[in-house]
Amino acid sequence: MIRRLILAGIIGLICVNGNTQTALKDTIVDCNYDFEFYQAWFKNYYSDSSDLNATQKKQVVQLIDSSIQLVNVVYYGYDKKIHKGQLLINKWHSKSIKAIFDELLAIRFPIHSVKPICFFEFKDEVSMAANNTSVFDYRPQVNSTKLSKHATGSAIDINPIQNPYISSKTTTPAMARVNEPTGRIRVSDDPGKKAIAIFAKYGWTWGGNWKTLKDYMHFQK
Ligand SMILES: [Zn+2]
Repeated sequence: MIRRLILAGIIGLICVNGNTQTALKDTIVDCNYDFEFYQAWFKNYYSDSSDLNATQKKQVVQLIDSSIQLVNVVYYGYDKKIHKGQLLINKWHSKSIKAIFDELLAIRFPIHSVKPICFFEFKDEVSMAANNTSVFDYRPQVNSTKLSKHATGSAIDINPIQNPYISSKTTTPAMARVNEPTGRIRVSDDPGKKAIAIFAKYGWTWGGNWKTLKDYMHFQK
């Protein structure tokens, strides 16, 4: 209830005339589909994918049918406007991600866009190049054959252009712009450090804290 009140307060503050209804009406919608729409699109894509073997195809279809949920989120955009986006996420994490996004909105942490990977040809590099934030993506880890936490809908990548993955071998996305402060997640930045604390409060760990490599965009549970 308190969170809802804070949220309503922020929406009211952001709105020009202080009227929450106007702010909601003016919300910019990234995408607005129901789960069945995504379920059919993802199953169709993965079932036909030449990158997956028969076992993986079976596994991903089972995951989509039993564990993945659609979560609608409201966030503060790079354009300083309120946006509505959609995430496909493991059902075990849908409640905490919703609470996290409410708190990110309350501190006006800027996010560029929030759309499922299907809008980017199911390719992580295409989604990253668009500076998109997403969760579920049945794919291996960078430079590995092991499945990523994204493959079970248990990791989120936020604003990849300002928050790249950096190892001794790779920086991705290649067009990363680490000097841009908007939407950047670092312990030295505000509101980035508050965003890290919000994720930590709900039990999500941050790739920026890893020792051997840094994955600044990445939080997982
Ligand atoms: Zn990630």
